[in-house]
Order: sequence, then C-alpha cells, then structure tokens
Amino acid sequence: MNILKIDHIGIAVKNLAESSKLYEMLGIASAGVEEVAEQKVRVSFFPVGDSEIELLESTSPDGPIARYIEKNGEGIQHMALRVDDLEAALAELKTKGVRLIDEKPRYGAGGAKIAFVHPKSTGGILLELCER
Ligand code: ZN
Repeated sequence: MNILKIDHIGIAVKNLAESSKLYEMLGIASAGVEEVAEQKVRVSFFPVGDSEIELLESTSPDGPIARYIEKNGEGIQHMALRVDDLEAALAELKTKGVRLIDEKPRYGAGGAKIAFVHPKSTGGILLELCER
C-alpha cells in the first residue's frame, strides 16, 4: 500500500454557509460546493497547501453526518489519506485483518474513489482512503 499524503480533514457542520465564513475569514477560498446524494451530504472543499479541509453538511436528518452531529456535535469527523491504488490498499488491509466499512470503493466528492476504514481498527478515528 502506498500512502501519498493527508488528502483532507473532514469536518461535520450544521450549516455549510455559516461554517464557511471562518475559512473565508482566514483567506481560504472554497473550491466549490458539491452534493453527494449517496452519502446525503453537501460538501465544500477549502484547499490548504497540498491538502484540503472538507466541510460536510447533511442534506437529510437520517444521513451519516446528521447522526454524527447528533451524537458528537460539530467537529472533525474523519481524516482522509490519499493512496495511489485504492482497491489494492483495501485488499491489503483486509488480508491484515483490518475492519473495513467499505470493502469496495464508492463515489466521493470531486469524482474521487473513496472507502472508509472502521474506527474500531484505527484507535477511534474514522479513516477515509481516497484515490484521485
Ligand atoms: Zn472525506
């Protein structure tokens, strides 16, 4: 498995427009807003150097981000590592006994292929692997 970099940090927010103001105030412009229907979220990416901050707002009260906020409040929800070959990375983790949420890549914002690793296998961190 080849980890290339920290791709982004995902932050769960109640209101995308409201939460975007902080990053705009810091001089970081959004690279655009996209709705990912499958995950019931609207996301906005704020590029910071070689990585990004991803703000996630739920589009449904039963979506994963709404449930996360209900349980934990707003805040950092996941960390994403970029890999060069997601399917190979998932296969390797599976053989190592790592618990995966997604055994196969799914669609992520910006056309990325993504998959989540279960927090039970990562010391409590929801880890996203992504390939762009
Ligand atoms: Zn993400």
